[in-house]
Amino acid sequence: MSNDALAHPDRVRASHWITVLRRQFPELQAELTPSPHRSGLGRQRGGADRHGPSEPLRLRVSDTVRDITDGVVELEEAVHDRLGLPPTDRGTVEVRLARLAGLLERVEADPPLMRHLLEEVSAMARRCSGTLGDAEPVVRLRGRCPLCASVSLRAFPLRRAVLCINPACRCPHPGCGCHADRAHRHSWPEDEWAELAAGGALTLEEITAALDGGSTAVAVSR
Ligand SMILES: [Zn+2]
Ligand SMILES: [Zn+2]
Repeated sequence: MSNDALAHPDRVRASHWITVLRRQFPELQAELTPSPHRSGLGRQRGGADRHGPSEPLRLRVSDTVRDITDGVVELEEAVHDRLGLPPTDRGTVEVRLARLAGLLERVEADPPLMRHLLEEVSAMARRCSGTLGDAEPVVRLRGRCPLCASVSLRAFPLRRAVLCINPACRCPHPGCGCHADRAHRHSWPEDEWAELAAGGALTLEEITAALDGGSTAVAVSR
């Protein structure tokens, strides 16, 4: 692009995406704090555990919050490194994005760095809005989790997976992902569904029906 009217388009775009991300990231974080007044999972139907400690945690949301938090820290560090600035101060995602916005003029003098920043920040902003707009279908299963005894089993048809959404639930295997980090929940692969059904006092048919979008379970997704 050699049009003067479009001077510094990358800087304009970068500024735009930083603004979008700064506006949307708090909304994403808010999604992790379920409230009876907020629309979202658990709003419909009179499920007994709607507002209990096992209220559905939106796994994709927590993954996205974690990845964007890490991504913004890494991006700010990379910019500081490349520009020869001192190490970054601590700060929330919003604070770091505001500081990055303040550095755009200097970043602009380094076109490869500007391209990197633009790619990173636009990808994060798109992912943030994509996750906000997503409503991954979730189906609540009858019965209790055989590990934690909560009414917290959910089927995720798109992933063909059954998860326990109780954040405190851990299986006995330390190597399992449910021990690895807070965003991970224990899930049962298909070949363990029969065992899960037996342990959770439900039937294998209920699990497969839920994963196929069947009507024997109560849909809790919006
Ligand atoms: Zn559990
Ligand atoms: Zn596990």
